[in-house]
Amino acid sequence: ASWRGYAKTSDSKVAEFTGTKGNDGKFIVTLIEGDGIGPEISQSVKDIYSAANVPIKWEPVDVTPQLKDGKTVIPDEAIDSVTRNKVALKGPLATPIGKGHVSLNLTLRRTFNLFANVRPCRSIQGYKTPYDNVDIVLIRENTEGEYSGIEHVVVDGVVQSIKLITREASQRVLRFAFQYAQDVGRRKVRAVHKATIMKMSDGLFLNTAREISKEFPDVEFDAELLDNTCLKIVTDPTPYNDKVLVMPNLYGDILSDMCAGLIGGLGLTPSGNIGDECSIFEAVHGSAPDIAGKALANPTALLLSSIMMLQHMGLNEHADKIQKAIFEVLAEGKTITGDLGGKAKTYEYADAIIKKL
Ligand code: NAD
Repeated sequence: ASWRGYAKTSDSKVAEFTGTKGNDGKFIVTLIEGDGIGPEISQSVKDIYSAANVPIKWEPVDVTPQLKDGKTVIPDEAIDSVTRNKVALKGPLATPIGKGHVSLNLTLRRTFNLFANVRPCRSIQGYKTPYDNVDIVLIRENTEGEYSGIEHVVVDGVVQSIKLITREASQRVLRFAFQYAQDVGRRKVRAVHKATIMKMSDGLFLNTAREISKEFPDVEFDAELLDNTCLKIVTDPTPYNDKVLVMPNLYGDILSDMCAGLIGGLGLTPSGNIGDECSIFEAVHGSAPDIAGKALANPTALLLSSIMMLQHMGLNEHADKIQKAIFEVLAEGKTITGDLGGKAKTYEYADAIIKKL
């Protein structure tokens, strides 16, 4: 199983990665360890990378939000680091519910214009789940939709949230999805939508998908209603294995967690936030405050995100080597974390991977 090619930029021909290199010739990669379980799972990645002699140097940055003119902003140092290095690995960041500052995750995506969120969801060989052959790739629009953050009180007891869909952002993510399908040899792009109800917003997304599909005659295209997709995926995910699913922001958020459930949960699903200038790789899951600080977290999702990152950087040999070790340990099932039914601590699992390198 290879994750190769999962994380290319919108122009597939720009395969060459042009980040920053240190004096020792190693690529410098921004590391945002994150909140909750973030530091524990980041430590596992660092330990495994150092044991595997991956030619990268981590540049840890602090993204603790600062308030500037009433707006949440990311410290300049962090922005400069990601801009310079063109690539970052990021642990989960906690978002306060309701009042408070705007989600830092959203701020990062907007700051760097990371327009496409690639979420592969693939069965782990040897780890038993109801379906053992899931291989779904979901691409989520990452900058607008219900995440636009435009909400207001109309009158007391009535609020309005704006779902913003633009042709420009739709074109960008759809073109990426088609290009991606072409690059990795997936037969079809399927747009997932609710244009029956949200006739104008999802209608624009769907019509844009139809237009963009004409630019890619070698890739088939169709569309499916979101509720139908949910029903069909949990009934039998196999027909989705040759497709790339592309959809507006919130649908992608929810559907990808559902797909994670099919393969063993959130501890296993990676993602890449892809932009034209830089990309940030992160696990699909959040900061898991319920298990933070107890060495119970499964670092696989962040590790597989880092594998996507290595492939994005063209460091495929290292990616393959580490990935093989991860899958061997998971398939053996002896040293796995609690979420997968095992008893291993986060660092014990990481050590088992290191022994397989
Ligand atoms: P969560 O993903 O943090 O946790 C959901 C459940 O899955 C919890 O029971 C948790 O223990 C478990 N889980 C998650 N990751 C795991 C792992 N690696 N190993 C083992 N078990 C794991 O979702 P939540 O509790 O809804 O959110 C917590 C915080 O994370 C919130 O502040 C939320 O906004 C934030 N969040 C951040 C991101 C991100 O940084 N991209 C994504 C989602 C949620």
